[in-house]
Amino acid sequence: MRYSEMFLPTGREVPSDAELISHQLMIRAGMMRKLTSGIYSYLPLGYRVIRKFEQIVREEMNRAGAQEVFLPMVQPSELWQESGRWVHYGKELLRFRDRHEREYCLGPTHEEVITDLVRNEIKTYRQLPRNLYQIQTKFRDEIRPRFGVMRCREFGMKDAYSFDADEAGAEASYRKMFEAYNRIFTRCGLKFRPVEADSGSIGGSFSHEFMVTADSGEDAIVLCGTCQYAANLEKAEVAAAAAQAAAAALPLEEVHTPGVRTIEEVCGYLKVKPEQVVKTLIYDADGTAVAVLVRGDHEVNEAKVRNFLGCGVLELASDEMIVKATGSPRGFAGAVGIKTRIVADHALRGGANWVMGANREDYHLRNANPGRDYPDPEFADLRAIREGDPCPRCGGEIRFVRGIEVGHVFKLGTKYSKAMRAVYLDRDGQEKTMIMGCYGIGIGRTVAAAIEQNHDADGIVWPLPLAPYAVIITPTNVNEQPLMEAAERIYSGLVQKGVEVILDDRDERAGVKFKDADLIGIPWRVTVGPKKLAEGKVEVKCRRTAEVSSLPLAEVEGFLQARIGEGI
Ligand code: ATP
Ligand code: MG
Repeated sequence: MRYSEMFLPTGREVPSDAELISHQLMIRAGMMRKLTSGIYSYLPLGYRVIRKFEQIVREEMNRAGAQEVFLPMVQPSELWQESGRWVHYGKELLRFRDRHEREYCLGPTHEEVITDLVRNEIKTYRQLPRNLYQIQTKFRDEIRPRFGVMRCREFGMKDAYSFDADEAGAEASYRKMFEAYNRIFTRCGLKFRPVEADSGSIGGSFSHEFMVTADSGEDAIVLCGTCQYAANLEKAEVAAAAAQAAAAALPLEEVHTPGVRTIEEVCGYLKVKPEQVVKTLIYDADGTAVAVLVRGDHEVNEAKVRNFLGCGVLELASDEMIVKATGSPRGFAGAVGIKTRIVADHALRGGANWVMGANREDYHLRNANPGRDYPDPEFADLRAIREGDPCPRCGGEIRFVRGIEVGHVFKLGTKYSKAMRAVYLDRDGQEKTMIMGCYGIGIGRTVAAAIEQNHDADGIVWPLPLAPYAVIITPTNVNEQPLMEAAERIYSGLVQKGVEVILDDRDERAGVKFKDADLIGIPWRVTVGPKKLAEGKVEVKCRRTAEVSSLPLAEVEGFLQARIGEGI
């Protein structure tokens, strides 16, 4: 491609909302433009990168035996009513009506549509397993679109759905996708980690998020410094501490604590450590109040509470519910005398003489003891892990790093197939429910994540597999005939060999051209200048290493082909 003919508006200006470097560089390198909040157009350079990534995804999905389909983006509400998500999905689902007043949504994901397709066509075990995927636009009305295409409203996703006859098959399908994802992100040259994620009621580790590591990432990744354990914050298990030797129970005491509400205030006022305090949170679990107890220095992990209770919706209780359950306003809840189910984090097991709210405004208790003062709670792992905690697998030290979730593999089980009756006849003519998995990759988000990991002060440094072009040829002065002739010759030679190459034939100063070449991140730059050309040579520069080789004209093609062949 000749630069002079390209639609490639590069520049220095960055929009004020562009906090992330990838967002800034995608604008500055002329890859994309914002149309409106959370909605972007890809320009030719950006779209080439998108297509490169999609092609890698496609090849690996096909290799893993998945078959490509293309499903509608507009989906009828009836299907979502069947699955129950018309009610539960919330405001991210963009709903609208057609001229006949029928309700639809723009697909934020495609479980309903694919399950409908498969239930109508697959009838027997002989037609299973199947894995169908598409690369398509999704719409999610994100509450706070940000970071460019990293968290936007309209975005490209690869989504795959597997259908199996039994558990073993579903697990094999899951493993295949897990391996395909490893290959995809490895091929892109990204540093990433698959991490265990919360799989709701399914349990086990049948959900993994693929995280590209980056300090700017929105998600915390929990890693063990010793073993391979990696999980997201929601999922990370906390090892149960060794049981403490039970202290002798002291007499229960009610203390007047005017205006004292937070753990910090309680500790300051009563001169105790947070480890001696029980924090009591009242949750609304599907409409029923439940008291959740954690140690004062710990935080509740709501995903764990939800899984333990097996409830659908879990949120902090309303003031009204708190008054009903505890008899006091918010801020003074405790386990003694409470009229709800009590569940406690396992760090409280074996402890004695706790400080806690007295269920009475402006009062706390000292020396509250389970069994004596309140019923023995149900214990479970309910708290959020912290840096420095022991690893739940090997006891090593836990540390946190930041990451960007680019993909997600999930064993769905029968959630949708049951609700939507996706059934088949097994070997002995019995009707059975299909077991599903779903597997997503954010296309634009992965490209943005690649930039977060691959840039420097001058711009993007594309890993070759994602680079929009492999080579840019820069004659330093287009008005000098011999320079242009040499540049044209290298250009057509590379084009003939199938190398993706830009010829920067703009009548611009060399410095301007070099800046643009660095900004858009082309892996190899060939500089055709008068001094070197007088010796029959040109300079070849590697964007990533800044290494410069001075090569005779006849060797340039071979050199570049060899390096590109090596994947550099
Ligand atoms: P997040 O927690 O970041 O909102 P999610 O759990 O909602 O992600 P999934 O429903 O698993 O995401 O979607 C699959 C993939 O689609 C994600 O791994 C991510 O790469 C991408 N994705 C999800 N939401 C967005 C978005 N708003 N903008 C861009 N990509 C997205
Ligand atoms: Mg989301």
